[in-house]
Amino acid sequence: MDKKGYYGQWGGAFIPEVLYETFRELGRAFEEARSDPDFWPEYLRLMSSYSCRPTPLTHAANLSDHFGGAGIYIKREDLNHTGAHKANNVMGQGLLVKRMGKKRVIAETGAGQHGVATATMAAKFGFACTIYMGEEDVARQRPNVFWMEKLGATVIPVTSGSRTLKDAINEAFRDWVTSMDDTHYVMGTVCGPHPFPEMVAWFQSIIGREARRQILAAHGRLPARVFACVGGGSNAMGIFQGFLDDPEVELIGVEAGGHGIETGQHAARLAGDDGSAGVAQGYKTMFLQDSDGQMRDTHSVAAGLDYVGVSPILSDLWEKKRVRFTAATDREVMAALELTMRKEGIIPALESAHAFVQAFKEAPAMSRGEALIINMSGRGDKDIFTIADAFKDPSWKQFIIDKGRQYAAD
Ligand SMILES: *Cc1c(COP(=O)(O)O)cnc(C)c1O
Repeated sequence: MDKKGYYGQWGGAFIPEVLYETFRELGRAFEEARSDPDFWPEYLRLMSSYSCRPTPLTHAANLSDHFGGAGIYIKREDLNHTGAHKANNVMGQGLLVKRMGKKRVIAETGAGQHGVATATMAAKFGFACTIYMGEEDVARQRPNVFWMEKLGATVIPVTSGSRTLKDAINEAFRDWVTSMDDTHYVMGTVCGPHPFPEMVAWFQSIIGREARRQILAAHGRLPARVFACVGGGSNAMGIFQGFLDDPEVELIGVEAGGHGIETGQHAARLAGDDGSAGVAQGYKTMFLQDSDGQMRDTHSVAAGLDYVGVSPILSDLWEKKRVRFTAATDREVMAALELTMRKEGIIPALESAHAFVQAFKEAPAMSRGEALIINMSGRGDKDIFTIADAFKDPSWKQFIIDKGRQYAAD
């Protein structure tokens, strides 16, 4: 990253002038924390006492036998408090807010997972908390809204525009412009204006630091490949950072293929060629947009992957070919989910199941002495109704993943 927050040609900070000073202050607070030798140990203590860190690296012996190729290991971010890697980021930002002496946090949320994680952090640290959420999403995500409110947050339904995530983002920024003296904006992923991508990536690097140590202990050498799903890119950046300097470790990001990239109903910004460079929401990255630069509607069975932009850090690693990008369709995801439940007694989140799909496609052709790691970003309990609905439509069964080949069952 350069001084202005660019990763190659990607990133930057395209923000209204009134927010310049706030971003400068945030950047300074972050850099001071990063160079303070006491800060990371304090973060580790918090995460081990409050969020089950270090999370285990599980050897998936049954899946490894099933595919007969590489040894399959699963990094268990589902065992974090609130059920996903999001806790790594929000708790870290909580410590930073305390350091800056601010008393209130705001966030925007689509599916509600980031809202719940932020409300949890605010309760723990004693901050006031306001969550912006599109009216449409408030209706779709009742259980998450319920918990945010019970945790003490104020949830504000946003009624402008399409009443979904991007309108909530605008509304949260409007709040911040008038409240920045005592309020911190909790960014949920490695996106947005500098310094957010750098800051969120740093907190999430805890995943990769642990995973590197754990695979060396369990397998005796580095993994050949590491797989992670990519929404905004924070769980992927989290685990990839453990292996970025090891050229022999191949890194694979899996985006939401939705109904198939050829249908246009997906959220693949880097895999395939539907994405294009643009500046929106305060930063430059690869977006899904039409020829006028209007953001397109995206689709995925996994709400957390359903986003038009992607981390500028990943756009850079994509351009440099350090990370390979692919996509998994909704139906492939259902097949991988069922296989993982039956073979290992583990229920991945729909988001995480995208990474499982790609690992299952590649494992059989890898040699037995090799290992691969799947980053399991979260647990699937939250997806119960979506999964139950999807299982009613048996068309996913034609994607049963057998020894890495997908075949039509009929
Ligand atoms: C939010 C979420 C994601 C997507 O976010 P990233 O920033 O791409 O990691 C993935 N998995 C789970 C379980 C999530 O809750």
